[in-house]
Amino acid sequence: MRAPHIVVVGGGILGCTIASRLLEREPRARLTLVDRGLIGSGASMYSAGVHFPVGRSERVRRLSAASADYYQTLSAGHPQLPMHGFDFFVAADAADAEAVRARCAGLLPVTAEERLSLASDLPAGRELWRLPACHVTDVQALALWQARRLRERAEVLEGVGVEALDEGADGVRVVLSSGRTLAADAVVLAPGPWANEGCWRELTAALGIRVKKVVALHLQRPPEEGRALFFPVEDAFLAPLPHRGHWLFSYTCQQWDPAPEAGRLEAREIAEAREALLGVAPALAPLLGSGRVFCDAYSPSREPLAQYVGRHQRILFVGAGNGSGYRLAPGIAAEAVALLNPTLTNG
Ligand SMILES: Cc1cc2nc3c(=O)[nH]c(=O)nc-3n(C[C@H](O)[C@H](O)[C@H](O)COP(=O)(O)OP(=O)(O)OC[C@H]3O[C@@H](n4cnc5c(N)ncnc54)[C@H](O)[C@@H]3O)c2cc1C
Repeated sequence: MRAPHIVVVGGGILGCTIASRLLEREPRARLTLVDRGLIGSGASMYSAGVHFPVGRSERVRRLSAASADYYQTLSAGHPQLPMHGFDFFVAADAADAEAVRARCAGLLPVTAEERLSLASDLPAGRELWRLPACHVTDVQALALWQARRLRERAEVLEGVGVEALDEGADGVRVVLSSGRTLAADAVVLAPGPWANEGCWRELTAALGIRVKKVVALHLQRPPEEGRALFFPVEDAFLAPLPHRGHWLFSYTCQQWDPAPEAGRLEAREIAEAREALLGVAPALAPLLGSGRVFCDAYSPSREPLAQYVGRHQRILFVGAGNGSGYRLAPGIAAEAVALLNPTLTNG
């Protein structure tokens, strides 16, 4: 039987994870991973890289749990990977306790000692829980590590854009900016925030994806000091980044439809973040001042997407990380590989 040729477009954390899981499922597959930039240099480079077992829907909680298992196995087998485990302390008003319990898996009570250690950062009177099994990663470094391993068994093309896709009943012709044309049995589109750009624009239009800015602020505070805090109602968190030597504050920015390119942190975003931090952990607000800005793709349901967009079930769109594309990537990749099963089996 002929080995199927799969082309994965986009070498971010999602494209690299899909490519890795594809070869785990079908080692005979011929695989080409194409990125018009360098591996991991899109949204993945800006990612805070925080994983926590949280989800608003049953499917997202399932994707999160499956991803946690995958990352745990990866980290146990490759201790050199930049993955650092920690527990979040979850803070919310008593009135929101039930919703918080439904959204966060495995909450534990906090001890009197832990409560005391949080008192200097938090306003008094909030309910607190411990959320174990969280971690933080250098996402770009992880994507690069995956790509290095992929190169042993697949073709990895950087600096090469996909310029045209021509889908037929028997396969897809993929025209590259380098002048080459690839004949693929199936194409996986994992373009991150470029979901509505490029030659697949018409194919993805019906998915209703929008792009939103994602902003996170850096706090000059040693990672070993203090406790990681998650505020589920405000959709914000404070997490240490040991691989970078500082803390990060993530809050929900509501700037929609920017061009997907690196922006600078503006005074307005620092003010917005300070306002958000003053509401949840006021003692830390003076530490804000710099950070990172990029964007991510958001679906109407706020759940990631893995679905065919072409006429012949040969072009699979996978993405819409909704600001959680790192922590859900292995679970989304498993869904994508399952959808590719017929091609992997029959070519
Ligand atoms: C500031 C910030 C903080 C975040 N924090 C977290 C977090 O703590 N936890 C979490 O889970 N998620 C977080 N996210 C979200 C997460 O980073 C993204 O969802 C994830 O990185 C998306 O990965 P991706 O592979 O889909 O996209 P990308 O990493 O953007 O990769 C897409 C790739 O497609 C390539 N491409 C585009 N067009 C073409 C073309 N025509 N031809 C070839 N290649 C092309 C691009 O060059 C790019 O490399 C954060 C995002 C940001 C911006």
